[in-house]
This record gives sequence, structure tokens and C-alpha cells, in this order.
Amino acid sequence: MRVCKRCLYSENHPLNITFDKDGVCSGCRIHEEKDSLDWGEREAKLLKILQYYRGKSKKNYDCIIPVSGGKDSYFIVDLVKNKYKMRPLLVSYNKQYNTKTGIRNLQYLKTIFECDCIENTISPTFSKKLVRHTLEKMGSIYWHNHLGSTTFPVQIAVKLKIPLIIWGVHQGIDQVGMFSHTDEVEMTRKYRKEHDLMGYEAEDIISEKDEICERDMAKHFYPSDKEIETIGVRGIYLGNYIRWDSKLQHEEMIAKYNYETMLQTRTFNPYDNVDCFMYSDLHDYIKFIKHGFGKVTDHVTREIRLNHLSRQDGLNLIDSYQLVPPKYLNKFLDWSGLSEKEFLDKLKPFNKLARLNLNEPTLKMPLKEDVKNISSILSQKEYTINSRASLNEDKFLLFDKGYINKIKGN
Ligand SMILES: [Zn+2]
Repeated sequence: MRVCKRCLYSENHPLNITFDKDGVCSGCRIHEEKDSLDWGEREAKLLKILQYYRGKSKKNYDCIIPVSGGKDSYFIVDLVKNKYKMRPLLVSYNKQYNTKTGIRNLQYLKTIFECDCIENTISPTFSKKLVRHTLEKMGSIYWHNHLGSTTFPVQIAVKLKIPLIIWGVHQGIDQVGMFSHTDEVEMTRKYRKEHDLMGYEAEDIISEKDEICERDMAKHFYPSDKEIETIGVRGIYLGNYIRWDSKLQHEEMIAKYNYETMLQTRTFNPYDNVDCFMYSDLHDYIKFIKHGFGKVTDHVTREIRLNHLSRQDGLNLIDSYQLVPPKYLNKFLDWSGLSEKEFLDKLKPFNKLARLNLNEPTLKMPLKEDVKNISSILSQKEYTINSRASLNEDKFLLFDKGYINKIKGN
């Protein structure tokens, strides 16, 4: 199996990675643009776009920013609202796998930046049905969140007639160099379906067996081309106009706004996805058995390219984290109502580790000691762990975690 000479992606990356004659991957080649493009010129292009939408209607918001309590949102809102003086409407889709850290980050985000926010929480019971169904259909416990978080902002854009949606970085560009930054790729329904949604639209998820009917799914339907054209909805990616460095951006947000971070189970990076119990844990373990690599490889690759990490340190980190079993499997089983056997049976057809000649870790494997060591070394030296948990929060709660397992008892 070919592995890039520079980063640590191999040819089993699901987003169509390619290698040149020097054995360097397309992601690394496009990443070189980060050090060769004139980013001042790029930003001027962004300002032109923003200028067009700013104050277009005095009665309306200038743009929509999809946000969460776990990643890049502070940086994006700070940039768009405070630096570029836009009036954004925040929209957030409730993942239901929320951590307290993520809830706090999201609530402080709204308060600190003085933004209005529209949130969407779908019925927990229906979420569970959807998860059980998509686990069996496509081996995913996260599809429902990809669906909601890519559909809801567009629905709000159409409904409230706010044509501009501002996203962070384009995954296909940042990971595998699918396009050049100068292509200025924008949000498309096609990319969303093929990559974010693994080839399935909401319309494809109707199941008698799992009691999911069209009426349940209709609220997740993407707006029609006609609706999108009428309002002129477009979604731009800031990563095409700003030199994106997620690590430095998060550290700026910790210093400026007390953004909360958290140690993760299966990766050394404590900044991303801190709002979710499942993303860097069980969902990432599933990614590993499907594709032979986990989030730690994404994070290592990103840091190598940005010169935050050597390739050898990256290899050591992958070795240490890749086989760590998910810590929150029982939390997921308890929530979803599946037994461990049912869960593993549904997952089995998607396990490609044997085909990729990789040993399958057992789910009950104990946490390796060296993993704990590495995470504590990293957190002290390279990454900041920051929490607001000890703050006195005896004030009005803007919003809090809804506990959704038991109705009676505690
Ligand atoms: Zn590479």
C-alpha cells in the first residue's frame, strides 16, 4: 500500500487521493499553496464577496454561519463578525451526543459574540431509529449528524432569505487536495451527497422495518434547486481565502475567549470535536475498521504539513492511538438500545481490516499506558487543555443538556 513520502496518508483514503511521480500525495501538493499564494490578495477577494452581501437588506442578517461547540466556530464567528463587521445569524444542529464541554462552548459562543442563533433538535427517539438504520445500511452512527448539519443551514437560508452561508475549511481540499484553493470551490449538493452523506440523501432512508417513513424524513429534505436559485443561496469556504491553521487558530481562541478543549480517546488533538462523545471515539473507531486509518492520521497529517510535527513523531502518535478501543461504546449502546452483539453484527459487513491486512483490535482491549503518557506530554508541551467547568455558573442557563435516556427514575 502506497503511503505519501511527506505526510502519512495512504492510498486507502476514501476521498480519492492521488500520488505523483515523487510519491507525494495530492493533499500535500495542494497544501504547498498555503506557502506560495498571496493571502493578502486572497483575503481581498473574500472582502469583495462579503461587501456584496453586507447590509444588502437592512432588515435581514448578512450571512449564516453554521456553528457547533467543538471546532473552528469561535474563529469563524470572530473573523466574520468582529473583523469583517458582518451581521451573521448562527445556526446549529443538535448532535445529541453532546458533551458538557461542547454545550458550554456553544452557549458562551452566542453570549460572547452577541449573536442570534437558531438551533434544531430533532426527536431523540427518532434520532435513535435513524442511527440504528444507518448503522446497518452504511456502517455509520454519524450519518444523521452529517445530514442535519449540512441540510439545516441551507433550509434556514432559503426560509429566511439569507443567501450567503459561510463555512470553515473544505475537507476535500484540506485533506486530499481535490481542488486548488484558487478554484474557490463553493458548497454543492453533489459533493455533500457523495462525500458527506456517503451517497445517500434523506429520500433514500425510508424503511418499514425501522419505522422510518417519508413524513419523518421530509424535514431533512434539501431545498430544491429552484428554491436555492430563487434566493441565490451560495456557501463559501473561508479556507480558500485565509491561510488556514487550525492549531494556531484554536490557541488564539483559547487566549481570547477561553474556548474549552478536552483530551480525546483516539487522537492527541484536544481542540477539534470536543462537543461530541462519539466523533473522536466510537465513530472514529468505525472509520478505522472501514478505511484502515483514524482521525489521528488526519490530525498528524495536518500538523506535519503545517510544520507543527515531524513525520517520525507523527508515526509514533498513530502507533499509539490507532488501536485504542473506544471508551464510550457502552454509552452508545445504552443510548441506542442496541446490545453489544447487535452492534457488532450490524458493523461486521463494513469491517475491511482483514482485507487491508491489518489486525483487528478487540473492543475490550485495555488502554495502553504509553497512550496516556503521550497525551499528557503533548497536553503540557504542545497543546493547551482549558476548561470552564470550575467557573461559578449560578446564573441563568442559556441552554443546557437535555438528558434523554430515562423518563422515570434518575
Ligand atoms: Zn501527503
